[in-house]
Amino acid sequence: MRRRRRRNKGSIVILCLMLVIAAAGIVFAARYMRTEYRSVSDHFGEYAVQANEGILAKDTKKKLKQSLYVPRKIDTSKKLIAFSFDDGPKRGNTERILEALDKQDFRASFFILGQNAKEYPDIVEKIYKSGNEVSGHSWSHPLLTKLSQGGIKEQQDKMNDAISKACGTTAVSFRPPYGGINDNVKQVIDGPLILWSVDTLDWKTRNAKNTEKVILEKAKDGDIVLMHDIHKQTVEAVENVLPILKEKGYEVCTVSELLEAKGVKAGKGDVVISAHQVN
Ligand code: ZN
Repeated sequence: MRRRRRRNKGSIVILCLMLVIAAAGIVFAARYMRTEYRSVSDHFGEYAVQANEGILAKDTKKKLKQSLYVPRKIDTSKKLIAFSFDDGPKRGNTERILEALDKQDFRASFFILGQNAKEYPDIVEKIYKSGNEVSGHSWSHPLLTKLSQGGIKEQQDKMNDAISKACGTTAVSFRPPYGGINDNVKQVIDGPLILWSVDTLDWKTRNAKNTEKVILEKAKDGDIVLMHDIHKQTVEAVENVLPILKEKGYEVCTVSELLEAKGVKAGKGDVVISAHQVN
């Protein structure tokens, strides 16, 4: 009798142990072995472009340029800062900035020089395909206020020609070199003229820490920050500052995303300083 009870006790213990092991196994499997579905929303635009290219290429027998890009939806409950990079693209630098932006799921506007788009069409395409904004900054960086209307138009047309050869579309908006604007510029340039509300002076200081400091101290919700992706110190500053801005609850976005999120309408001849100031 006693022996049998002992045996029963033993099998209950073994049963319990087996149950515990089975439960642990289920928990382990649930936690570590389930299929991970990576969210596609981060890169939805890119997927949409590739899918559309695939579908349309079947009919037309040729590669469709990225005309069907679907912009990401901005979380308007967050504080927004538009980052803008002038004078590029530059091999190495611009790609590093794109990577740093992508890491945080941020985007920015690139005010490209036509002559650089001609030299680095692959980088322009990368900017476009990664959901960042391809904007224009003239063909060769002259002070447009010194040019005739014909001269200004030539700068815009040559620039747009190089940009559309690279990525299939013309510049979304325009930033005149040195911020130089007069009536001729307003009359000739298509779309709004985008300036800035926070000048990092990165081209002058060439100091990453200084650029970071200006951004963190001055940039607020609705601002447009001016930088230049041709300087490696700017790249460093961007790499350092983006995670900090994310931690502070900011969303870094393109100029168009900023204006759309804030309900700002800007058209030809309008001068955009920030989401709070359009002249
Ligand atoms: Zn410039």
